[in-house]
Amino acid sequence: AKASGKNTFAVFSRSMNEAASSQLQLDAELRRAIRGDELLLHYQPIIDLRQGRVIGTEALVRWQHPERGLLMPAAFIDMAERTGLVSDLGAWVLQAAARQQAAWREAGLGQLFIAVNASGRQFKRRLLEQQVADALASSGADPGRLQIEITEHTLVEDVAANVGTLAALRARGVQIAIDDFGTGLSSLAYLKRLPIDKLKIDRSFVRDLPDAAEDGAIVEAIVSLAHALGLQVVAEGVETERQQAWLTQRGVAHAQGYLFSRPVPPEQIPEAIQAVAAR
Ligand code: C2E
Ligand code: CA
Ligand code: CA
Ligand code: CA
Repeated sequence: AKASGKNTFAVFSRSMNEAASSQLQLDAELRRAIRGDELLLHYQPIIDLRQGRVIGTEALVRWQHPERGLLMPAAFIDMAERTGLVSDLGAWVLQAAARQQAAWREAGLGQLFIAVNASGRQFKRRLLEQQVADALASSGADPGRLQIEITEHTLVEDVAANVGTLAALRARGVQIAIDDFGTGLSSLAYLKRLPIDKLKIDRSFVRDLPDAAEDGAIVEAIVSLAHALGLQVVAEGVETERQQAWLTQRGVAHAQGYLFSRPVPPEQIPEAIQAVAAR
């Protein structure tokens, strides 16, 4: 029994070491990816439901790994959060998204906004403010067409400090959306004092609509809250026409989801705009 216990331990510790060293390797590779040209952004259209047209996009990061192929954020964002590399990644994303906004303007698509996800790490020491200022200055992008998404979870970690950053961004004309709204248990009392423009209803509340009565009640409550506070509402993860109809009837103005378009490379955005208009 003793010997097998030892063996178990040996196996366990070896796999622990392997896990740790593959994390280290991934960290080193991501560092290289941020400096090199292995990261890219896909853009998912955001639709005005009443007008039936694309009004903006959300930038979603991908990693074209030389051996592992195209990696989605689930494969590397958590690791980047833990090591802090997500701050450098976020700076890269802001630069790339701002350049894209400027390029779309050149191409006659300047009315499209781009929403960028920000990590909690970027809210430390006012890093995000500087990163946004740098990205705007070096690209010539329109600040009014840049949005920052902060998750409700990140926001509530340090409301007082984060509000300062959000207010500073808004003073530059940048819009603010609370992402994954409804999952973070923020106090509703905060909402009226927050310098924000939009609530993005988390996909988990949209997925089972219109059949799930409780999810429907939650979405209705978020919509009336948002309207009372003068905030815009976006529904994430809209996959069916029944969901679209239900949301439209309840006054949800904006939506995003596979029903309209998956996230696509920027050169496919004109096509996606056409496809939405033709629906
Ligand atoms: P998120 O901000 O909630 O982004 C929406 C995610 O839902 C995206 O996954 C998108 O592809 C997916 N999605 C959109 N519509 C639908 C739908 O109709 N059905 C389903 N099932 N899924 C849909 P993705 O691109 O894998 O990104 C996952 C998460 O990674 C994002 O969630 C965001 O939290 C994070 N992320 C992505 N890009 C960045 C970034 O540049 N910086 C940071 N810090 N995080 C990022
Ligand atoms: Ca988001
Ligand atoms: Ca979201
Ligand atoms: Ca989400």
